[in-house]
Amino acid sequence: MTSHNEELFIESQKVIPGGVNSPVRAFRSVGGTPLFFQRGQGAYVWDADGKKYTDFVGSWGPMIVGHCHPEVVKAVQDAAAQGLGFGAPTATELELANLLCKILPSIEMVRLVSSGTEATMSAIRLARGFTGRSRIIKFEGCYHGHSDGLLVKAGSGALTFGQPSSSGVPAEIAALTTVLDYNDAAGLEKAFAEFGNEIAAVIVEPVAGNMNLVTPKRDFLDAMRNLCTKHGAVLILDEVMTGFRVSLQGAQGHYGIKPDLVTLGKVMGGGLPAAAFGGRRDIMNCLAPLGAVYQAGTLSGNPVAVAAGLTTLKLVQAPGFYDKLSKLAKQLTEGLTASAHKHGIAFCAQSVGGMFGLYFSQSLPTSYAEVMQCDKEAFNRFFHAMLDAGHYLAPSAFEAGFVSAAHTEADIAATIAAADKIFAGWK
Ligand SMILES: *Cc1c(COP(=O)(O)O)cnc(C)c1O
Repeated sequence: MTSHNEELFIESQKVIPGGVNSPVRAFRSVGGTPLFFQRGQGAYVWDADGKKYTDFVGSWGPMIVGHCHPEVVKAVQDAAAQGLGFGAPTATELELANLLCKILPSIEMVRLVSSGTEATMSAIRLARGFTGRSRIIKFEGCYHGHSDGLLVKAGSGALTFGQPSSSGVPAEIAALTTVLDYNDAAGLEKAFAEFGNEIAAVIVEPVAGNMNLVTPKRDFLDAMRNLCTKHGAVLILDEVMTGFRVSLQGAQGHYGIKPDLVTLGKVMGGGLPAAAFGGRRDIMNCLAPLGAVYQAGTLSGNPVAVAAGLTTLKLVQAPGFYDKLSKLAKQLTEGLTASAHKHGIAFCAQSVGGMFGLYFSQSLPTSYAEVMQCDKEAFNRFFHAMLDAGHYLAPSAFEAGFVSAAHTEADIAATIAAADKIFAGWK
């Protein structure tokens, strides 16, 4: 009997490329048929066949208070009843902007957009407009959305010029992006020594969550801050994933590093399309209509999305919220590691706040190259066995996982118990 998931996937592939509206959803990395979801509640989601899963994806991060939190649902319903959008300013946008400035002291002014991609793309243009320079630096394995200048990989040979990592990105545009190794402070120093006066911006995921999970080394963060200041380049911390996820003040609060610009998304939209970029007032003053850097959006600051974001950000400010979240993520990673080691499996795991990484390898990776050395086949096998057992992990060995405040210690214990059974029969 074909399942409802399978039928939906067959039909979707006829009208949607690959059957999905974002590639990783297609399960290409892990194989098999993607799940179509019909509903979520708290820490759980149900697929089109009615099967229930403990959710460790959380819509790729936004669902930090769990699915269908009653306060978020009510705020969205109330906002919708007042009008779905006006393409004109509203008081709730001001409330959200004030809240972002209050929680993140590095943000003196902020502009709302609708996706993380828009936020990073706009921040790059703003940095270029502010500095009058063209070149940007990014790091291998970091993802900053799908704009042309950021879909770039390291060029072979010449250190300076990146190459497109997607067809359709002009080589001329990719050549303006220099791609360096994550956590390589010396590499960054060398690049600045060679062409520091050409660099408009350095953009980085302060905890890399789009190559599984890689934490930043202290000297890497410090080098980034110091070199940008010294050479007049704009430091953009892309906190689309880490913002309100690794701590209330994101990675910048967790590690104590002050960016010039910050990009936000995911959690700040509470599950709806709201994102933002903001930072130093002198830089933000360059943005239209104040300045000459153009940026706009019909749906920017949409009142329904803003309502979801505002309510989510109020909930995460509850005392002890991040302590609980961090504890759950730590229990999960420590429990899985202990179980794998008990059964003699090369495995390790770590968490930062409410995000975690699982690796089928002897040691924690610190770079893209090391992430690539993890046993992908082992992960895929583990992923499918966990899925069968009702635990939904990200369908790729190269994505971070997320816990929500709706997860309980019992949920975590059940997940570890399911993994223990799988690891016991691993050989
Ligand atoms: C998800 C993500 C983006 C892109 O955000 P979208 O809303 O998917 O466009 C950018 N940067 C980081 C760090 C992300 O995790």
